[in-house]
Amino acid sequence: MSGAGQEPQGLRKGPLRYEGKAKRVYETDRPDVHWVVYKDDATAFNARKRGTIAGKGIVNEAISAHLMRIVQERGGVSTHYLSTPAPGEQWVTAVDIVPVEVIVRHRAAGSFAARYGVAAGRPLEPTVIEWCLKSDELGDPPMNDATAVALGFASDARLAELRDAAHAVDAAVAGRFDEVGLELVDFKVEFGTDASGTLLLADEISPDTCRLWDRASGEPLDKDRFRQDLGGVEEAYREVHRRLLEGASP
Ligand code: UDP
Repeated sequence: MSGAGQEPQGLRKGPLRYEGKAKRVYETDRPDVHWVVYKDDATAFNARKRGTIAGKGIVNEAISAHLMRIVQERGGVSTHYLSTPAPGEQWVTAVDIVPVEVIVRHRAAGSFAARYGVAAGRPLEPTVIEWCLKSDELGDPPMNDATAVALGFASDARLAELRDAAHAVDAAVAGRFDEVGLELVDFKVEFGTDASGTLLLADEISPDTCRLWDRASGEPLDKDRFRQDLGGVEEAYREVHRRLLEGASP
């Protein structure tokens, strides 16, 4: 079950199932649906830096819901997003998360620029897709296909599916950002499988998980403002929200 038109109704929030860095996931009275609450907490550098970004939960939920719809409609990729029962909250299809973080890069930045000793901002052709093991404990180490398969994190067929889905997500989301004057520099997505084994885009797409540069000024409008103490963090998140969802609250 996923996508618009099949929204669950009148769910009750059940026990907390999992608390992550940016979200809490609750069970509901339906085993196939989870209730996600977005938090204002912010972490960076594998949680060595911690803080709060006021209003982030509500803003990121709205941005992510919008982009999940875009991914479904324009990219043809099914997502876990079902609906937004309250600001900052989502009903999502319950999935088992694939323990492979998928990173898509159009320009060198962040840990990639540091790893290869290249200037941040250097364009990457072709677009780079990377796998990282989803493990906070280990600091999400990068891995190649053979490592992922040999260690049992994903099959070759699953990796092929993830690569195709990542390109489709990228085309849809980068195109949407482009329409509002934002360049998608890089981003991270996670996928999961529902009860029937179908692969769905999960987690979130937001300024927490994307690098976004204003096309006019080149200024970052994303979590790099928090990581690098650039100031104007709340304003940047709100600006991304405003551009994508003009007229919508908050
Ligand atoms: N990213 C993320 N969660 C992670 C690691 C990376 O959302 O655990 C995002 C990050 O915001 C950026 C992209 O993935 O948009 C690439 O991040 P990078 O590998 O350069 O790591 P970072 O410099 O953020 O540590």
